[in-house]
Amino acid sequence: SPSSTVVTRFAPSPTGYLHIGGARTALFNWLYAKRHAGRFLIRVEDTDRERSTDEAVKAIFDGLSWLELFADEAPVFQFSRADRHREVVDQLLDTGHAYRDFTTAEETGRLRDAAKAERRAFESPWRDRTPTVDDLALPHVVRFRRPQSVTVTVADEVQGSVSWSTDDLDDLVLLRSDGAPTYNLAVVVDDHDMGVTHVIRGDDHLNNAARQSLIYDALGWTRPTFAHIPLIHGPDGAKLSKRHGAQAVHEYAEMGYLPEAMRNYLARLGWAHGDDELFSDAQAVEWFDLAGIGKAPARLDFDKLAHVNSHW
Ligand code: GLU
Repeated sequence: SPSSTVVTRFAPSPTGYLHIGGARTALFNWLYAKRHAGRFLIRVEDTDRERSTDEAVKAIFDGLSWLELFADEAPVFQFSRADRHREVVDQLLDTGHAYRDFTTAEETGRLRDAAKAERRAFESPWRDRTPTVDDLALPHVVRFRRPQSVTVTVADEVQGSVSWSTDDLDDLVLLRSDGAPTYNLAVVVDDHDMGVTHVIRGDDHLNNAARQSLIYDALGWTRPTFAHIPLIHGPDGAKLSKRHGAQAVHEYAEMGYLPEAMRNYLARLGWAHGDDELFSDAQAVEWFDLAGIGKAPARLDFDKLAHVNSHW
């Protein structure tokens, strides 16, 4: 049935070139979708208008094309869906799961500092205040009204079961004062509307999964299955950076690496499967699973990559 069809997505922010971490995330999503005869989608998260560029969009698609990671549908550009995001915020306001916050940025900063000093989450005074008609004419943000003193648990396919107390989170801003939707809101609405069943992404987003789960619950929407994969580290175990070597996919293309070799190498970066270093796409698709993804960061091994490349 359509409801059981696996749908994955790669959701890059177009603020730079496609780096190997992003390429691996895309590949894992592609493999998982193909493994389950599902669909792989691409969503360009261009809501940050200042940092998003057309050049980055092009660079990302060029990198994905080189790796032959093609989506099964036309890409979705997140910014074009802002009206839909605002519509869902209205829904949350109507059901009491969101509220308008008229606190000035300056005052919010002060309250935040005070909360921090007392080691408690920041709460807006508007959480429990009803605005008057006059208030409504003033600039304000819209915040999510999270449930208080509740445990939110994410059953993650890689990280296991991870729990947070909502007392340690705060009421997320959903709409900025200029009406722009924020990242967590946009991701939930888009993943839901695109029918995404599996969210496979870097584990730097694990905390967001807790926040996003609360939004899904408030909307009465089914949460996707989450799989947060550890980031790629350099050969020395430190976070990957320029000093380790090339990070951009296009640099590897320019150095003469073959896309097939990159795919083989990236597939095995953090995903264990026997000792096979060279395999076909058909084999990768047949073998790929989330259970084989380790919890420890994978280390980039340039010698191994060169070795794999020499065999193609
Ligand atoms: N756009 C986000 C990023 O590039 C990813 C969001 C997601 O996968 O949910 O980090």
